[in-house]
Amino acid sequence: MALAEKYHLPLTDLNFSQARFTRQLIEQDDPAHLQQVVQLSSTLVLPVAQGRAPLNGSGLELVPSADYPLPDGGEFIYLGQGGGHDYVAAMLPAAPQDGGRGAEWIDLRTAFTSVPVEEQHLMLIAQAIVNWRQSCRFCPRCGSALRSTTGGWVLRCVDNDHELFPRTDPAVIVAIVDDADRLLLGANSRWTNRVYSVLAGFVEAGESLESAVRREVFEESGVRVGDCAYRGSQPWPLPRSLMLGYTAHAQTTDLVPDGLEILDLRWFSREELGQELRAGSIQIPRGVSIAHALIRDWYGQELPEAADL
Ligand SMILES: [Zn+2]
Repeated sequence: MALAEKYHLPLTDLNFSQARFTRQLIEQDDPAHLQQVVQLSSTLVLPVAQGRAPLNGSGLELVPSADYPLPDGGEFIYLGQGGGHDYVAAMLPAAPQDGGRGAEWIDLRTAFTSVPVEEQHLMLIAQAIVNWRQSCRFCPRCGSALRSTTGGWVLRCVDNDHELFPRTDPAVIVAIVDDADRLLLGANSRWTNRVYSVLAGFVEAGESLESAVRREVFEESGVRVGDCAYRGSQPWPLPRSLMLGYTAHAQTTDLVPDGLEILDLRWFSREELGQELRAGSIQIPRGVSIAHALIRDWYGQELPEAADL
């Protein structure tokens, strides 16, 4: 039996799946160009240090570049253009001692629940590029020092001019449905026992996405998957993943949790999941994640929350 037609449609409400910022600048390997952008009166700076950015009220503190002297050890990285502004990250070794004008510094997960979605997206891009820059200190081919080019999005080694690009790790995340249109959810050992979510795992070297779906699902649950449909993708730079969402058809329904990553597995009907969520006996991932989007897509409407949580 194949997946129902509805599971072949793209997820329409996936956060960060559509481009908000353009980056023509990074096509150019010209150090002067980034400096010119920094000097524009419309350019805004997002300071980033150790995975955090400053919060100002209900938004990120974006500082006009004319008012932002780059601290020692900092580096500007181009983030993109949108809404009449160019945005630049100031990659800092540490948050300023004074907190940066008294601002609270928040991480990306906190930003997902506390700032406008455009600013979440901007911080997500900043986090992605800064994570790469901070994990890539020397040329992996020859060990020599690196210099930053093209707005900070390319590194070149100083001895042999080897070119390095930002790295992303693909991971599949899979909503598995059986012939009765029940959904398989698992309790991951990283969370408390009451949180159930769709299964996910990294794509291995030399592996296709479809093979990764079938392998990961079987390893974590013992379920054999047949037809699988791509639903959409979401960048998740925590620290550098790209989540590729699938809905897949279960050919078997016996469940064998791996006992390491997955502690419990359950098939849910819509009625059962709704009841348990309302009762607060289980929870699911909330917010911007593709996990929530996949579960809500299967459920067919907004998912209920427990009244007393
Ligand atoms: Zn090199």
